[in-house]
Amino acid sequence: MTMTNLLDFDLDGLAAYCEQLGEKRFRATQLFRWIHQRGARDFSQMTDLAKSLRDKLATRATMAALPVISEHTSADGTVKWLFDVGDGNAIETVFIPEDDRGTLCVSSQAGCAVGCRFCSTGHQGFSRNLSTGEILAQLWWAEHTLRERFRLQAVSADPRSTDNGKPGIPLAGAAERVITNVVMMGMGEPLQNYRALVPALKVMLDDHGYGLSRRRVTVSTSGVVPMMERLMQDCPVAMAVSLHAPNDPLRDHLVPLNKKYPLAELLATCKAYLAHAPRDFITFEYCMLDGVNDQPEHAQQLIDLVRTHDVRCKFNLIPFNPFPASGLTRSPHAVVQAFGRRLNEAGIVTTVRKTRGDDIDAACGQLAGDVKDRTRAASRMAERRVVMMQTEPAPRAARP
Ligand code: SF4
Repeated sequence: MTMTNLLDFDLDGLAAYCEQLGEKRFRATQLFRWIHQRGARDFSQMTDLAKSLRDKLATRATMAALPVISEHTSADGTVKWLFDVGDGNAIETVFIPEDDRGTLCVSSQAGCAVGCRFCSTGHQGFSRNLSTGEILAQLWWAEHTLRERFRLQAVSADPRSTDNGKPGIPLAGAAERVITNVVMMGMGEPLQNYRALVPALKVMLDDHGYGLSRRRVTVSTSGVVPMMERLMQDCPVAMAVSLHAPNDPLRDHLVPLNKKYPLAELLATCKAYLAHAPRDFITFEYCMLDGVNDQPEHAQQLIDLVRTHDVRCKFNLIPFNPFPASGLTRSPHAVVQAFGRRLNEAGIVTTVRKTRGDDIDAACGQLAGDVKDRTRAASRMAERRVVMMQTEPAPRAARP
């Protein structure tokens, strides 16, 4: 008999499954809490469920953890897991501890089909979508593994520090969550895996699941406009958009999806999303590429762009993490600072992302895992020379 993976279900899905077993909805709620709030890995632990139900579940259902290929902890406390998702593919998940929060960066696909030029995942090409269970298994594993681990280590009087000399994590008590924020910014374009994404988001938000507020769950997209429109109706969480360029010709080059959904359309959708969003701004991510998108005229074009479209936003400038196949280099620190200053002086709140986990390749754009490239994107990209694009807007080709 094929075992049913209970991590694949949001609460409604689990209730429907329990109904098939002749069980009432409150049983599904109990089961859901055992899985997600208490991290049960075995039905025998679920002592308030009838033994007959536990026995039934043991023969037909499972909570399928992803096999861990490796785990690395950075000097700054960042933890990176490499998970095996079968058929030669691996995905990465990163935990980033800070004084007031613990953020988990979650993958949504094995590889990515978007092929952004500055992204090592994009250079590997796309293998497959993750299931809801595979997306949630990353959170389930990280939350309960770290909860167990840090409970053992948190012996200091200060609950936010540990006795191992590493940065503390928010662990004020046994019932406190380790992961307070989830960002769908790992491998993959989450909005190109919409069907699996939305139930996973619902489990993250569910009070019987991880109980995260919509402000603390962020979907990061390269700009899949139709799916942004659906998400604002179905499950409006915080939105981050990988912008990376202030005009269409340059963005066509850096983020190829822009040819399909150009900036005017993307910015109009961002504005519409804000009417539903839990935050009153969109976060624009902007990877700083030396001599490509980091000049004063680019900053001015960004200011004009967001003013024209009247989008309340914040900018997050991301120092590029170079990898050989990209042909790109990181903008100098002074250039990044000057760029940020221009935006801030124009009244746009702008921060520079701290690089975390550099020593374990866990920084943004370094999540490469090990993906079977079925699209041959890597070789296609290698054949194309990286051209420094002119930044003057040029007439656009008609949208395909
Ligand atoms: S930046 Fe995101 S959307 Fe672009 S290739 Fe990388 S994973 Fe895909």
